[in-house]
Amino acid sequence: MSGMVFLVGAGPGDPGLMTRRSLELIAGADAILYDRLIPSGALDRARPDADLRYVGKQPGGHSMTQEAINELLVELGGRGLSVVRLKGGDPFVFGRGGEEALALVEAGIAFEVVPGVTSGVAAPAYAGIPVTHRDGASAVALVTGHEDPEKPDTALDWPALAGFPGTLVLYMGVGNLAAIAERLIDGGRGADEPAAVVERGTLPGQRAVGGTLADVARRADEGGIRAPAITVVGPVARLRERLAWIERRPLHGRTVVVTRARAQASGLAATLGALGARVIETPAIRIVPRPVEGDLADAVENIDRYALVCLTSPNGAALLLDALRTSGRDARALAGAMVAAIGPGTAAELERGGIVADVMPERSIAEALVASLETVPVEGRRVLVARASEARDVLPEALAGRGADVDVVAVYDTAAEPLTDDEALLVSEADYVTFTSSSTVRNFLAALDRNGSGHSLSARIVSIGPITSGAARELDLEVAVEAERHDVDGLVEALVRDAQANAE
Ligand code: SAH
Repeated sequence: MSGMVFLVGAGPGDPGLMTRRSLELIAGADAILYDRLIPSGALDRARPDADLRYVGKQPGGHSMTQEAINELLVELGGRGLSVVRLKGGDPFVFGRGGEEALALVEAGIAFEVVPGVTSGVAAPAYAGIPVTHRDGASAVALVTGHEDPEKPDTALDWPALAGFPGTLVLYMGVGNLAAIAERLIDGGRGADEPAAVVERGTLPGQRAVGGTLADVARRADEGGIRAPAITVVGPVARLRERLAWIERRPLHGRTVVVTRARAQASGLAATLGALGARVIETPAIRIVPRPVEGDLADAVENIDRYALVCLTSPNGAALLLDALRTSGRDARALAGAMVAAIGPGTAAELERGGIVADVMPERSIAEALVASLETVPVEGRRVLVARASEARDVLPEALAGRGADVDVVAVYDTAAEPLTDDEALLVSEADYVTFTSSSTVRNFLAALDRNGSGHSLSARIVSIGPITSGAARELDLEVAVEAERHDVDGLVEALVRDAQANAE
């Protein structure tokens, strides 16, 4: 049986720019040979038993020659495997995909080419530069800047490129930029022709500098621009001044750490990402649901005896409803009770189960919930507080003080998540660390300590509310930002305001 080799483009770096076909093939491949410039997480959906091999080139050295890669593709394909050769951008644009395809044809191995979004078009686009434009850019040339133009045997006809009637897009040219610009000017391109360099296009750390052919190399050098970068030469480069969109996002260039449990982090991470932040997810805790037995089983079994049911976290709400379902009941079991939610996140979980909360305070803290319940008659009635095993007792104590018969039932525990060395490094370079509960503060700092990073947090600390801030201060963390509304949207709002006030 003959195998199949797929020459697949992974796009310029933003994982969202990977094609659907590339993801399908990655998920099904027996073997994946990948390069350095592939999007982070590109291999997340690979099969656990897939043979993953890094064959990329190290800057300054080659980890594997092109010939060796060709041979490996032929060998794996010849063994009947489904092989994905994954490359940055497009495989047939400066990706040596043509050479690999030729080697496969020669060996009689079937192959397929999956185009990708090429960085020469995508990086300019993310920097606000259309490579063609109705006025004045009716053609575009993709050029390698890899060769030193001073070399006598250069394969490129620089005078002809200088006269090219359209936009020049240079790949791989940061080091040679000054020499290239000089060649183009010598060839007749105007010294005042607009030019721009885009570093790490479509990635969170994207940066761009603009100028003219005469000064763009100096500006790039002063700006510390490094590979990977794309240079655009032509009048379109000036449109960046008006069309730069990503660099204007409120959190562009900021790195924000999300310490929330992974199961809940996605909403916060997505919101921050959409605002332009580079998001590092390092969950400090994991939610561990309690088995439905003992107290919890008893409360669920007799749920109709409660006059009031209080949920003090989204997890608590979701897990109580799960427990009801497991015992063969549904939302109707709560028909006779009043239901109180501590905040909008918790109310949203209840709504997912078909329950609209009767009581929800404006501020999502226990004291506010106590105040909201003041007019609810509880004396002599049974009240259920379903919550984390470790939580403050403000609410149950207040209710008991008013004569209620309160059952406090733990529906989940929080377990600490460790921090890897790589994660600790990312955290140490972050601009912001966000905390959405006191348990995330405590567990995150404990994980940093265990990691040997101690309290060397230079990031600004963002807290969801006063209780979380209090937990941080107790551990000698200075809280830079505290949300006014104690939910995720409120936290994001406060963070953005701080970032704008502290704009570089
Ligand atoms: N096949 C790839 C190009 C590979 S050559 C493609 O189609 O995009 C490698 C060069 O691509 C780098 O030196 C750089 O010039 C460019 N490049 C790749 N990713 C880039 C990115 N995210 N931002 C800017 N340039 C990038």
